[in-house]
Amino acid sequence: MNEARTNLLGFSPAELIDYCGTLDEKPFRAKQLQRWIHQFGVSDFTGMTDLAKSLRGKLEKYAEIRAPAVIRDHTSADGTRKWLLDVGQGNAIETVYIPEDNRGTLCVSTQAGCAVNCLFCSTGKQGFSRNLTAAEIIGQLWMAEFALRRAKNMPEGKGERQISNVVMMGMGEPLFNFDASVSALRLMLDDNAYGLSRRRVTVSTSGVVPMIDRLARECPVALAVSLHATNDPLRDKLVPLNRKHPLPELMAACRRYLEYAPRDFITFEYCMLDGINDTDAHAKELVRLVQTGPDPVSCKLNLIPFNSIPMPGLKRSSDERIAAFAKILQDAGIVTTVRKTRGEDIDAACGLLAGEIKDRTRVKERMAESGMMPVSIVQDYRFQSNC
Ligand code: SF4
Repeated sequence: MNEARTNLLGFSPAELIDYCGTLDEKPFRAKQLQRWIHQFGVSDFTGMTDLAKSLRGKLEKYAEIRAPAVIRDHTSADGTRKWLLDVGQGNAIETVYIPEDNRGTLCVSTQAGCAVNCLFCSTGKQGFSRNLTAAEIIGQLWMAEFALRRAKNMPEGKGERQISNVVMMGMGEPLFNFDASVSALRLMLDDNAYGLSRRRVTVSTSGVVPMIDRLARECPVALAVSLHATNDPLRDKLVPLNRKHPLPELMAACRRYLEYAPRDFITFEYCMLDGINDTDAHAKELVRLVQTGPDPVSCKLNLIPFNSIPMPGLKRSSDERIAAFAKILQDAGIVTTVRKTRGEDIDAACGLLAGEIKDRTRVKERMAESGMMPVSIVQDYRFQSNC
């Protein structure tokens, strides 16, 4: 592929109009192009049959539709499907599809690596490499949606939507890659692209307070917050970003967000760590934090059984402890769920999304096995996990 070509995959409607202008084409062509790309999954311009032949010729010469290349593609016995994607320069990201009875959820990554460095997260241990572009973020949805349709033998350009929900809960902190994440979110919501409801698109953050306010103003979607602790000293250790934006600030930001949010609650994610944040006293402190503190927040709690990474002192809470913790929250009237683990047989966790964080060194082996690149390059790939 000619590197000089312009990748249109992450272009907003306005950017597509501008691009058509550079080709001396009318603005309405942008709408047609956007539908071919995002509604029909067509990447070959010759197949865009309602575009004038002359325009198709120009697009073939100067443009391309390019998502990150798939390195590995595995489907679990429970239907969970996971892709490992190459985003260049020794970086790979993961995208996970989780089918359920009444919905299909895609977990997407927003950064290669992560600078937040949460104590329990192997992505954080690998450091930050770079922000993904809007094309690389929306490219995960584009790639997955049309791969799922093809798997059901739906003809190109036709077929029922497979992905009903998207969570930005993969690798990285989406609010540290704000502009690209919001560009991708807008395409997810755009009726001329994926047309997802705001209620079905979730941004998960470790607590970047100023950007929570900005998201509320610019693109309010459902919000999940990786809480994991009930007081500042503990959260300072588990989620180092807390030292910059402590709990009172974070809770106040959550409350402000609710004025704009498409749902009337914030989802708090809480990774259950044996003996660290899982006692009855922690559960009661959590109730006080969200219900009776200076900034009570309408919320749901999602308890996530931790799966070990090689980190001394960190263990998953027992099922009994998780149940006892959940009961205290439920008795206080807080809607509380315990996240199910999915796709274990393919190591498919989108980090905490699927309740798993595993040693990602196997990513290197898989890339080597795939034969898509020399082992010497594969060894430089960073392994990863996610929020
Ligand atoms: S849990 Fe999320 S925010 Fe924390 S280090 Fe991992 S990827 Fe980053």
